[in-house]
Amino acid sequence: MSSEGDRFETKVIHAGQSPEPRTGAVMPPVFQTSTYAQPWPAKHTGYEYARTQNPTREALEACVAALENGTTGVAFGSGLAATTTVLHAFGGQGVKVVCGDDVYGGTYRLFERVFKNTGTSFSYADFSTRAPADVIPEGTNLVWLETPTNPMLKISDIAAVAARCKQIGAILAVDNTFATPYFQRPLDLGADLVVHSTTKYLNGHSDVVGGIVLTKDPAIAEKLRFLQNAIGAVPGPWDCWLTLRGVKTLAIRMQRHQENGKHVLAWLGANSRVKRIHYPFLPADPGYAIAKKQMSGFGGMVSFVLDCDLPRAEKFVASTKLFTLAESLGGVESLIELPAAMTHASVPAANRRALGIEDGLVRLSIGIEHHDDLIADLDQAMKVALA
Ligand SMILES: *Cc1c(COP(=O)(O)O)cnc(C)c1O
Repeated sequence: MSSEGDRFETKVIHAGQSPEPRTGAVMPPVFQTSTYAQPWPAKHTGYEYARTQNPTREALEACVAALENGTTGVAFGSGLAATTTVLHAFGGQGVKVVCGDDVYGGTYRLFERVFKNTGTSFSYADFSTRAPADVIPEGTNLVWLETPTNPMLKISDIAAVAARCKQIGAILAVDNTFATPYFQRPLDLGADLVVHSTTKYLNGHSDVVGGIVLTKDPAIAEKLRFLQNAIGAVPGPWDCWLTLRGVKTLAIRMQRHQENGKHVLAWLGANSRVKRIHYPFLPADPGYAIAKKQMSGFGGMVSFVLDCDLPRAEKFVASTKLFTLAESLGGVESLIELPAAMTHASVPAANRRALGIEDGLVRLSIGIEHHDDLIADLDQAMKVALA
């Protein structure tokens, strides 16, 4: 139940922020300092050194924690710095991790090329089609779940995975970067912690790289806070300030991403050169039932398969004018990319096909421009490339 001040659209503006005490500045200032004066040796104001405490960072952490219905946010210099710190908290010699089979490529690289060397073992499974008990064996310590996935937008049942984790005493971490807390709140569904690349929708303006972890478990919070300072992969105050500013419009941006998504989907659905559309909020999508159950909506991420070979697909994505050909996602501007040649080029071709990443698969991150302009752009590119 929502009470006054507790609704999402209000929290994005106010949570974690109050007027600055000295001047009454309504926006949290950028505390661009590395250290703080102490009145007496070992007596301080609560702020000693800026790796350890920074008021701008604290405002961002408190705000996003409130949006995910957590109690603690711990911010980092990138999404992967956040993931690194979580793995330092829960990984190590003999630790067993089960991870989604099509997680973000950088997460996979971090697990396989960095943390495997520390004695942590990783196995990969498709949580979207298999029962949690079948893919999460007894003795698993940490489960890493991404839903929806990228670029196939596969959906897994967070509550069911969380129940299995509770049963066997495993920690559940959910990467909520794609859905954002506006549409999905994993802590409410039983996850122990939520990870974000704030680089994407949370900041939303494609001008900052950042990450954050949210939890409501005091022991996990304490561990992460210790490691945030001990490892030191912290964001700078300007990046925190920009991200906090971006978060203020998260609710209205996500609404508009979703609206534009619906228009683009209608156009794609009526186009004879589009073989298949991946979007969990379409009734024909395999993830539809679970998406409806655990998400309140879906934003501007759409992928679809063009009925053409790789060179034509390349020409298509290179021919859009408003959709910028680029990796990343979640900004106010629309982006287009070809996973087989770009974000997922490092995945061997056979594995790509097994994951459903065909050569003609195009991924859109639909921005908040006017939908008619976006559709006209896709239409002209289709004429140039597939005529
Ligand atoms: C981008 C991304 C990351 C990594 O975040 P960085 O900020 O680039 O380090 C992790 N997970 C998902 C789902 C992402 O899209």
